[in-house]
Amino acid sequence: MNRDYKLLTPGPLTTTRTVKEEMLFDHCTWDDDYKAITQKIRADLLELAHCNPSEYTTVLMQGSGTFGVESVLTSVIGADEKVLLCTNGAYGDRQVKICEHAGIDYVQYAEPYDRIPDTAHVAEILDNDPSITHVSMIHSETTSGLLNDIESVARVAKAHGCTFIVDAMSSFGGVDIPVADWGIDFLVSSANKCIQGVPGFSFIICNTAKLEASRGKARSLSLDLWDQWNTLEKDGGKWRYTSPTHVVLAFNRALDEMKAEGGIPARSARYATNNRMLIARMKALGFGTFLKEHQGPIITTFTYPEGVSFDFADMYAFIKERGYAIYPGKLTDEETFRLGNIGEIYPDDIRRVTELFAMYMAERGLLEPCAGTTDIATAIEAMDEASAAL
Ligand SMILES: *Cc1c(COP(=O)(O)O)cnc(C)c1O
Repeated sequence: MNRDYKLLTPGPLTTTRTVKEEMLFDHCTWDDDYKAITQKIRADLLELAHCNPSEYTTVLMQGSGTFGVESVLTSVIGADEKVLLCTNGAYGDRQVKICEHAGIDYVQYAEPYDRIPDTAHVAEILDNDPSITHVSMIHSETTSGLLNDIESVARVAKAHGCTFIVDAMSSFGGVDIPVADWGIDFLVSSANKCIQGVPGFSFIICNTAKLEASRGKARSLSLDLWDQWNTLEKDGGKWRYTSPTHVVLAFNRALDEMKAEGGIPARSARYATNNRMLIARMKALGFGTFLKEHQGPIITTFTYPEGVSFDFADMYAFIKERGYAIYPGKLTDEETFRLGNIGEIYPDDIRRVTELFAMYMAERGLLEPCAGTTDIATAIEAMDEASAAL
């Protein structure tokens, strides 16, 4: 079994050796050294979010990203309140499920997976239903790779006096988000996405006044956002219940490495370059993108060349054997696959993996019908030309 491959998935993703090496140490959870690490992480995240500590605060929450989303939805929406869920993908649909499970009053405004919510329609829904107190949506919809316009929806939510919640799981750190300026009240992301840590906790950038006002509303004990925050604040960085120490150390290192790379400007530029190169080179091989507009820089959903039959499992095995794990599609009615371009992934990786696609197609007799050539060198040349033209 080949264990030596990089992940072209949207998280967990490929991390540096030095981030992984942080986990060789068994740190204790309660002393001042550890609490100082927690506090530093909380402060660093606020800075990345462009938030002032006098107005915003960071809460770290055990579990994967979904636990963070569930924590916010079940902690800040009271029994007599109601949330508007603007959805256009599986992660938006997951928020609907969370509300169903917790008995949270909600209305869903669903767009197809390749469309963004219409702000005028959001305004209309809020105008017609004054009982709506919260609006929630996804920033980077990892289902398709679409990047939603959260700034415009935030403006409408604010104009209606609503609290605005954003799942920026797969974008925070990889796309710059001025959280305070845009009026985002709760933003959720997790350790194993664009900051390039390993899985184990999520974090929530919170408008402190709104967080304080949510006291007593939580429907869950372990996911109680206010209580988690209260312990972190009261005990100067102590987590409520066991914290994922190894993951926290790795994340702390990942934040430092991000700073060394040049912060969000450098990281978002690297991801955007990866993404543009990937799309251009895959197009030269005959693959299309599912999204015709609103394509984000994190992950891309590719469609197969028309009339040609691919076996995803076969293609996956071929490429994984040679160093890269690709990702199945998550759309219900179209044959697609996805390629993420975040993590320790550079233009050389994009070049390499697209050459592997060409090799695979050549070996299976698919190159001619897709790229219009039987010669692999010609196909690679066409890809190089396409990425040089960017
Ligand atoms: C990764 C991700 C999540 C969280 O998923 P987990 O499997 O719980 O980590 C939530 N929303 C989006 C948009 C994501 O990309």
